[in-house]
Amino acid sequence: METKRTRIIAIDGPAGSGKSTTARLVARKLGFTYLDTGALYRAVTWLALHKNIDLSDEDTIAEAARQAHFEIDSATDKTRVMVDGRDISEAIRMQEISNNVSVVASYPKVRQLMVSLQRKLAAHADVVVEGRDIGTVVFPDADIKIFLTASVEARTQRRMAELREKGVEISFEELKRDLIERDRKDSERASSPLRKADDAIELDTTELSIEQQVDAIVEAFQAQHVA
Ligand code: C5P
Repeated sequence: METKRTRIIAIDGPAGSGKSTTARLVARKLGFTYLDTGALYRAVTWLALHKNIDLSDEDTIAEAARQAHFEIDSATDKTRVMVDGRDISEAIRMQEISNNVSVVASYPKVRQLMVSLQRKLAAHADVVVEGRDIGTVVFPDADIKIFLTASVEARTQRRMAELREKGVEISFEELKRDLIERDRKDSERASSPLRKADDAIELDTTELSIEQQVDAIVEAFQAQHVA
């Protein structure tokens, strides 16, 4: 008997482009599960810092990640991330992690592990997967690929609002600098850089509300499935 292939919606884009909120709502609307791959790179970064591993030591970081057990649960409003049974959902959102994650995520040995973990996590259900290399590397055969963009000012505003909700105060200019720097590192790295897949639909969300972004993606997906 032929097994039915699960459906995959890939959403990529730079930091603060609204990927997480959008992906979660698209998943909810379509009854798909949601996978936040950035949370996994953040978890590896947390692990490296927690174990006092030198962040320039790719081999030791990859080995620690290989030995660790990662769990991710996005069923509720907040993604829950566990490493070896420890809940690090809050810790991975701290600025110290945001400022170091691009270095850890640039290591091919770390990416290899994470890509195979992501494929496993997405194997059993229809899924919306969000990250930087989903349409280009992780799921090049995704049913639909979306590349979200927004002006750096809009992205900084959104990240500021998110952080403020968590009680973190940071200046607009500092946050903007951090975002630009993270985008630069993510786009310039040799191993699966942030890049729009040739067949991805680009959606500039600068002037769009979350509802409009979600509707645009759901409509694009449904249109493809009717065609
Ligand atoms: O999406 P989020 O901002 O949480 O991602 C954190 C970091 O993880 C990114 O800046 C990037 O360095 C890395 N990442 C990646 N590939 C992905 C998802 C995230 O390299 N698929």
